[in-house]
Amino acid sequence: MANVFEDMAPEELDRTIVELERQADEVRARHLRLDMARGKPSPEQTALSKPMLDLIGSTTELVDGDGVVDNYGSPDGLPSARALAAEILGVDAENVLVNGSSSLSLMHALVTSGFTNGVAGNKPWYQQGKVKWLCPAPGYDRHFGITAHLGIENVPVPMGEEGPDMDMVQRLVESDPSVKGIWCVPKYSNPTGVVYSDRVVRRFAMLKPAAPDFRVYWDNAYVVHGFMDEEDPLLNIFDALEEAGTTDLVYEFGSTAKVTFPGSGIAFVTASPQDMAEIRKSFQVARVSPEKFSQFAHARYLKDLDGVRAHMRRHAAIVRPRFELVESKLSEGLGGLGVATWTHPRGGYFVSFEGPEGSARRIVKLMADLGVKLTSAGATWPYGRDPKDTNIRIAPTYPSLEELGAALDVFVVAVKLVSAKLVRE
Ligand code: PLP
Repeated sequence: MANVFEDMAPEELDRTIVELERQADEVRARHLRLDMARGKPSPEQTALSKPMLDLIGSTTELVDGDGVVDNYGSPDGLPSARALAAEILGVDAENVLVNGSSSLSLMHALVTSGFTNGVAGNKPWYQQGKVKWLCPAPGYDRHFGITAHLGIENVPVPMGEEGPDMDMVQRLVESDPSVKGIWCVPKYSNPTGVVYSDRVVRRFAMLKPAAPDFRVYWDNAYVVHGFMDEEDPLLNIFDALEEAGTTDLVYEFGSTAKVTFPGSGIAFVTASPQDMAEIRKSFQVARVSPEKFSQFAHARYLKDLDGVRAHMRRHAAIVRPRFELVESKLSEGLGGLGVATWTHPRGGYFVSFEGPEGSARRIVKLMADLGVKLTSAGATWPYGRDPKDTNIRIAPTYPSLEELGAALDVFVVAVKLVSAKLVRE
């Protein structure tokens, strides 16, 4: 679609810019303080889980199957919490370890363990010279941060509508033994909202890595986070692995961060029996057993996958109108101008926005001047380097509908103004 600002005569473009500047000045004078930056549930959403806090008291019997809640023991997590996590991920509870409140911490612990102690009997990565990690982009900044922090070279791989560019993934993974891992968010990907197609999942399962210590970090953070009425199926990676006759390739992660309380949910990891044996050993060095009161409360409150789904429908009722508002504000304000595209997710926490080349940093800066905080431009790319400076991550869940509407109105003005000025320059 042609960019309308490019089609304007110079005088008309000047007039348009003057008018947009006037609108921006009007916004500035309102001294707004709005935030569309981080993917957090709204207070209304976290309130849904407060009844969980009433389920444990001083008279509660703190026993869970053969697990004891108020003492050391159950290093893999309480039986009920492992069963719940296994149902959420669709795997065998025997292969699940529930530990701590953050899946990101589990990922950090395992990348670090590969770095210091090695994976599957291979040399630790710190003794292997240069080590690389594939980073589908746009992607999740905190994933990229873990590997960058250890000095691992983050290599961007383009994200498409079905998942990462699998030709590129396969070529790099199968030809380069210094590639040790890839970050994946297979369902309602952060920030594009993409659900990996069956074809993509199968291609992951069929990978024949050049490095024996390569693993796919399958972060299924949004596995139960659809907000439409119909389910969006994701092929189970462990079923695909079995079909392909592949073992010891995938670590899968999940948490209830955005089911119950971010920062105070329960987090879990699963992998092949052999990989789990190594993962257990690594965690056993770090602590005697995990925190279990939260596991106990979560299993009692959510019960099973049906319980989780019922709970997530209540989240969906709150979240979906916010995503609908993003869609309607952006299509009314920017549709047909030929300057921007954005994703239309059916779950997860983000909308991924693409503006004209060279616009993202300027839009985010102008938005800050106008009182609306956005995720930093570039954050969705390794090292914060978006090669074309086009991508902006919109996080619509935290603000109220009213605040979100106001923030999106400002966003439309900022995108138009920056796009028009880019044409004039
Ligand atoms: N993984 C993804 C893809 C996320 O988007 C987030 C939070 O935004 C997390 C993990 C963090 O999860 P946790 O709180 O369990 O560490």
